[in-house]
Amino acid sequence: MWPEVFGTRPGLLGWERFAKEPLGETVVRAMRAAVLDSIGNPLRVGDIRVPVPEAEEVLVRVHVCGVCRTDLHVVDGELEDPKLPLIPGHQIVGTVMEAGERVDRFSVGDRVGVPWLGYTDDSCHYCLTGRENLCDNARFTGYEIDGGYAEHTVADHRFCFPVPDGYPDLQAAPLLCAGLIGYRALRMAGDAERLGLYGFGASAHIVTQVARYQGREVFAFTRPGDAEAQRFAQHMGAVWAGDSGQPPPEELDAAIIFAPVGGLVPTALRAVAKGGVVVCGGIHMSDIPSFPYELLWGERVVRSVANLTRRDGEEFLALAPEVPVRTEVVPFPLEGTNEALDALREGKFSGAAVIVVDEIG
Ligand SMILES: [Zn+2]
Ligand SMILES: [Zn+2]
Repeated sequence: MWPEVFGTRPGLLGWERFAKEPLGETVVRAMRAAVLDSIGNPLRVGDIRVPVPEAEEVLVRVHVCGVCRTDLHVVDGELEDPKLPLIPGHQIVGTVMEAGERVDRFSVGDRVGVPWLGYTDDSCHYCLTGRENLCDNARFTGYEIDGGYAEHTVADHRFCFPVPDGYPDLQAAPLLCAGLIGYRALRMAGDAERLGLYGFGASAHIVTQVARYQGREVFAFTRPGDAEAQRFAQHMGAVWAGDSGQPPPEELDAAIIFAPVGGLVPTALRAVAKGGVVVCGGIHMSDIPSFPYELLWGERVVRSVANLTRRDGEEFLALAPEVPVRTEVVPFPLEGTNEALDALREGKFSGAAVIVVDEIG
């Protein structure tokens, strides 16, 4: 039963809730948050203490936070050893309210985006060779660091991004993971002209727009019979949309698999031409069934894409307004975070779900 909320009062952060420590009179700031207490259980929406930023951190008032399939993998226990209790969410758009003493990239009042990559050591072999996405000591937002399904969060300023002007908070949120990781996956697809996308959710709807802008053709594969998702894919610019088991009307040069379904790897290999790449874009996938070597023969490649580098973020957030990428979002209130996760699990909406905590711009 902590903290017990006694009331509201005006404060630096607007009207804020406050509470007293259970054994003393120290008044602490409290905030609403959706908290994962244990794996496999719904998030609990309640009041907890507002975090205090360390020297390299900013305290961010969260406006919105995008919902990502990775959140499902965390909540469902498919990713090991999350911080517990944990506030998930790693596509955060908010305003800097306080800055630690070593923060020099942002000032109070700035709009910031907080992505999945929350910390790297800047010193391991991977970091020193431009591959900080693979850092041995990386820590991730909404997994090993508390994330954005809350009224406030703290984040290391070195890993935050300025949010491009012209994007309202809601539309900006999905850029921060669906867009970023999608962009990295698209890079891994090389210069493929005919690109297949397996699973047409938040990432695919953004990647389709970037791929078209780059002069590629997109072939969209959805759950069998999901006519609405297929219509959505064509509306977003796919030249063809069909069931995941269907062969495309022509050979593909590359495919990106966003759905967490290992069985799609041999399916996609079958669809790509010689020399084609199959990129697995998710952090977790069901087991890949065995398949004949013949499917890989002809210099076909299967690879994964892991996390993001800060350079990916800078490049993609500069590119998005050029395209311009338009995100289709489905808003949910903070109280409805579990419903948003369930809707994503069941593929109940098109585009990207976003938790609206305190939308401003
Ligand atoms: Zn490192
Ligand atoms: Zn994500």
